Amino acid sequence: MKKILTIIVLGISLFWGENTMATEALNIKQQAIAEAASYAARGNQDGLKRALIKGLDNGVTVNEFKEILVQVYAYCGFPRSLNALTTLMQVTEARGSKDDAGALPGAKPTGSALEYGAANQTRLIGAPVSGKLYEFAPAIDEFLKAHLFGDIFARDNVDWQTRELATIAMLASMENTQSQLESHIKIGRHNGLSEAQVAEILAIADQTGVDDVLFGKGGENTAYAKYFIGTSYLQPLTRDGVGISNVTFEPKCRNNWHIHHKGGQILLVVAGRGWYQEWGKPAQELHPGDVVNIPPEVKHWHGAAKDSWFTHIAVAVPAEGASNEWLEEVSDEEYDKLK
Ligand code: MN
Repeated sequence: MKKILTIIVLGISLFWGENTMATEALNIKQQAIAEAASYAARGNQDGLKRALIKGLDNGVTVNEFKEILVQVYAYCGFPRSLNALTTLMQVTEARGSKDDAGALPGAKPTGSALEYGAANQTRLIGAPVSGKLYEFAPAIDEFLKAHLFGDIFARDNVDWQTRELATIAMLASMENTQSQLESHIKIGRHNGLSEAQVAEILAIADQTGVDDVLFGKGGENTAYAKYFIGTSYLQPLTRDGVGISNVTFEPKCRNNWHIHHKGGQILLVVAGRGWYQEWGKPAQELHPGDVVNIPPEVKHWHGAAKDSWFTHIAVAVPAEGASNEWLEEVSDEEYDKLK
């Protein structure tokens, strides 16, 4: 009797465990699709190739990837889509016939694409879409409805939740599309993506921006690890005259409070989202393109946001007798106050 009960309890906990995971995290197919969409949006063919291989090895079909990379054109333009599809073609050719082609879309709905597209759009978003912009430029409203939500979203071999997952990954990988990204996060949530899954898609999109940044990620920063919480990566760029390094922080990673004596430091933000804080002052949020000029003798720290990778170039301003003084950690209590 005890044995049977144990089996039942184990069975329930296994089922519960699997169920919880399914709602809490992206599965490996979803991860690969988010990575592929993000790399395609960035135009990074090497990264895309890795994501496609990961997906194909784990059950994403060739036709599912074709759908996602065709959809890329609606959000990122034909050049990104055509280059991404070329990469998919090359990857599948190189792998021979071992990949599952997967289902093709079913027959198109009958009637006008504008009508069923408008109905799809309403169902996808949860309410009819209208607004001043669409009155100002009615052509874009028609193209969105008839073409994006009609022609593309009527192709039913990829479900809408997956299409939204890909769209969120694409928009999070592009510059200055914050309002569209926010809308699509709401649409993704409306189509069953959990808050944790959305956070994971955004983290994937940040990471694809860091993996292949202009100056390289470099190796794990073991030499300075004792002055950091979390893992950081260091790519030294030059030591002649001026010390310049590219530093990448994983989400939540930050360095201890520290002081640059004599010579200060200049930070040039390259990718992701992070923080800079001077002792006794509020923390400053940092984004790509931001420049922080840290004067000598100012106690400060810098690092990633809790949900984002972060990369900055650190320039050591040369001065005679310059040195660094490493101080206490930035406590979880202090750090967790930051968004
Ligand atoms: Mn510093």
